[in-house]
Order: sequence, then structure tokens, then C-alpha cells
Amino acid sequence: MEKTFFIVASFIFGTIIGSFLNVVIYRLPRGKSIGKPAFSFCPSCGNRIKWYDNIPLVSYLVLKGKCRNCKSSIGFRYFLVELLTGIGSVFSYLKTGISYEYLFVFLFVGIMIAITFIDLEFRIIPDQLNFLGFIAGIAYSSLKMNILDSIAGVFVGAGFLWGIAYFYLRFRGIEGLGMGDVKMMAFVGAYLGWFGALFTIFVGSFIGAVVGILGAYISKSEDKGKFEIPFGPFLAFASVIYLFFGEYIKEWYLGGMM
Ligand SMILES: [Zn+2]
Repeated sequence: MEKTFFIVASFIFGTIIGSFLNVVIYRLPRGKSIGKPAFSFCPSCGNRIKWYDNIPLVSYLVLKGKCRNCKSSIGFRYFLVELLTGIGSVFSYLKTGISYEYLFVFLFVGIMIAITFIDLEFRIIPDQLNFLGFIAGIAYSSLKMNILDSIAGVFVGAGFLWGIAYFYLRFRGIEGLGMGDVKMMAFVGAYLGWFGALFTIFVGSFIGAVVGILGAYISKSEDKGKFEIPFGPFLAFASVIYLFFGEYIKEWYLGGMM
């Protein structure tokens, strides 16, 4: 009974944070202030959105995805971000219980959701998000007494990806990866350690390659070979899988080698 209450509460809390993440995803890559104005407004007509039209998930459904004032459609992304953040909050609670660790785990998920949707739309990963994640990752690891693994994770994660980027640029003359991805892996490594960083790179690359090949195949008729996908969302996905199931993955993998 108590657990059910906390699951529902953490979901609702997550959707509220998701609503805030929508603001971050809209404003950060456009160079706008996150805090000012404090209210939300419709991107089409600029109308201030009333509090009762700004209830996570519910308002989107009530208004059928349209602005009450100008009736222009609000992207499904707004609903999706709130839903994913709500689910991420529940997973964070189930992993950590009522503990300071919840804040760190949920912060990781929140930053990854913001990175995913910003990278999908703008092909950038804002430094502010990577920096916040990096600092939080170091702090979290210090509190959990595994700071050495965290530092190793930073070097393995960022170093490995930097090496790939360098190789691509040097030998193929193309900028295959952005420095945003490299900085992102420093953040992931700080949180997840060296094994988590490697898992994120390999699993993220694998899923990215599969999606990339499928995408290139589907879009072949139009612009051949020009199909490009950002890497950040795949890294984000793989890292969140590891965040929640890393203990089992590591045990299974390292156990199998002995
Ligand atoms: Zn409007």
C-alpha cells in the first residue's frame, strides 16, 4: 500500500519535472533564459498558458494537443517528454527507494531526456547539460565511495569516443562525431564508471548502426547516403538501460568470463 502510494507520487512528480524539461528543451538550444519568463507560453501565438492548461499529461489530452487560444497544434513531444519523465521517476524510485540516491538517479534520467530531444531537433548537446551531469556524477560517486571507478569512467568514456572521432577525422576526413558526444561520455562515465561507459558506447553504437542502416535503406530513394542521425539519443538510451540494470548486466557479463 505504501509502495503503491510512492509509485503514484513519484510518477506525478516525474511528469511535473517533465513539464519543466519541455521548457528546457525549447529554450536552451535557442539561447533563451530557462527561468524567465517563469510562465509557459504558446510558441505559435505567444499567449500565456494558464495553470489549468499546463497540467502535465492531462492538459494535452483535454485540449487534444491544441493551443486553447490559437488552436495550433502542440507537438506530441510535449506529452511524450512528460510521460517518459514520469516513468523514469518511477524506475528511479524503484531502484533507490526513499533516499538521496533517488535525486541523483532521476537527475541522470532527466538530463538524458533533455539531451535526446535537443539532439534530435538541433543536432547539438548543450554544454550546460553535460557539465551539470558531470558534476552530479562526480558528487554521486564520491558519496557512494567509488570515485576511482568514476574517474576511470570519465577517461574511458570520453577518451574512447574522442579516439573514434579523431580516427574518423584523420583517416576518413569526415567529422563523424561531435565534441558534444565526447563531453556527454565524460558525464556518463562519471556516473556509471568504466564498465558502464564501455557498455553505453558499444550498445549505443550497435543500436545506432542498426537504426542508421534501416534509415538509409528506407530513405535511399531520395537522397542517397545523406541519411544522418545524431548519436546522442542512442548513447542516452544505452546509458539509462545501464543506470537501471547495470548491476545485473555487469554480473552476468563478468560472471560469464570466470
Ligand atoms: Zn497559441
